[in-house]
Amino acid sequence: MALAQQSALWRRATSLIPGGVNSPVRAMRSVGLDEPIFMRSGDGAWIEDVSGNRYVDWVMSWGPLIFGHADPETLAAVADALQRGTTFGAPTEAEVDLAAEIVDAVPSVEMVRLVSSGTEAAMSAIRLARAFTRRDRVIKFDGCYHGHSDALLARAGSGLATLGIPGTPGVPTGAAGDTIVCGYNDIDGVAAAVARYGEGLAAIVVEPVAGNMGVVPPEPGFLDVLRTLCDASGALLVFDEVITGFRVARGGAQELYGVLPDLTILGKIVGGGLPLAAFGGRADVMERLAPAGDVYQAGTLSGNPLATAAGLSVLRRLRDPAVYAALEAKAVRLEAGLAEFGHVQRVGAMLTMFCRELDDPVRDFEGASACDTDRYGVLFRGLLERGVYVAPSQFECLFVSLAHGDEEIDRTVSAVGDVLGN
Ligand SMILES: *Cc1c(COP(=O)(O)O)cnc(C)c1O
Repeated sequence: MALAQQSALWRRATSLIPGGVNSPVRAMRSVGLDEPIFMRSGDGAWIEDVSGNRYVDWVMSWGPLIFGHADPETLAAVADALQRGTTFGAPTEAEVDLAAEIVDAVPSVEMVRLVSSGTEAAMSAIRLARAFTRRDRVIKFDGCYHGHSDALLARAGSGLATLGIPGTPGVPTGAAGDTIVCGYNDIDGVAAAVARYGEGLAAIVVEPVAGNMGVVPPEPGFLDVLRTLCDASGALLVFDEVITGFRVARGGAQELYGVLPDLTILGKIVGGGLPLAAFGGRADVMERLAPAGDVYQAGTLSGNPLATAAGLSVLRRLRDPAVYAALEAKAVRLEAGLAEFGHVQRVGAMLTMFCRELDDPVRDFEGASACDTDRYGVLFRGLLERGVYVAPSQFECLFVSLAHGDEEIDRTVSAVGDVLGN
């Protein structure tokens, strides 16, 4: 009965929605499933599918749910906002409060604009950097994902890596023609690219901890070199902290590593599980945005009242350092358990177990690509049978939330042992 419902849903979905899903990785094809699992509810660290199966969830909607599913405080804040209307298209107090919260938390951010998705934030930050520097070129890194805007969709990590396609038709040659791709952690490579293109370089954009090829931390000095190269060339340094913001520390990777970008892209946690993202940074750069300045950027639902209520509810609780201590302890416990079965890389509450024989660090996309994705597929399917839901792709993270307790962690580790152990 329940299974029939799942399959009926899938048949309807594929006839109405391309590939049956609204974002490609959800199709779960790369891990060997014929049809994706339809989910119907979540509660804390657990998610439930339409057939009534419950799983410990390590996807957490790909990062936003730092307090877990259906967090009562977030729900109450949204319900409260809901009573007053869902959207006004005019300024509201909560937007100012959320902006203040972000500026207080993220060290380099002096002013911020709210948008509705990480894609939109990244696209707008690049436009702003280009306008400010009056230059066109952008350096990005192989395996880093910054949403699906044309200019940034070159060698962009997980979604594409999962599908095994390098780029996408439909992006005009010109739109990606000013995008230069360097290897992550390749200091010499990026220095050479800046030497060659520096005069026309608007920005270097980077995930300060890569999360879209699995977790790949910056090697010592990598972020500092990017800062130095930007200062020397006049390009802006843009950190995409859509995953790392409010996750690896309250102030993101820039707080953790002590390197300050000119612009920061935020998403996921900042919206508390509703569609909200942001970009911010130096006031002199941000004030170039219309209507203060001449760079156009806009959004009907930007700063939406439900999303700002959710974001505020979450961000205010993240002021307490005990939150990050708790996240760290949980993540350490999970890492220690998993380390027996694969090569684990972790920064704060994000980690990846790479299925590979070698135990040397994965430092770039090439290293990540060398993983055994078939083995990962076996792991994914085996975990699913045992009530544990991890990302349907090797090139993603396990997202630890405050809702994950020792029980969920230990259950996960023993399930992994069941599937992969001897
Ligand atoms: C998820 C993600 C984005 C895109 O955000 P969307 O809200 O999915 O558009 C951009 N950058 C990074 C690093 C991400 O992980």
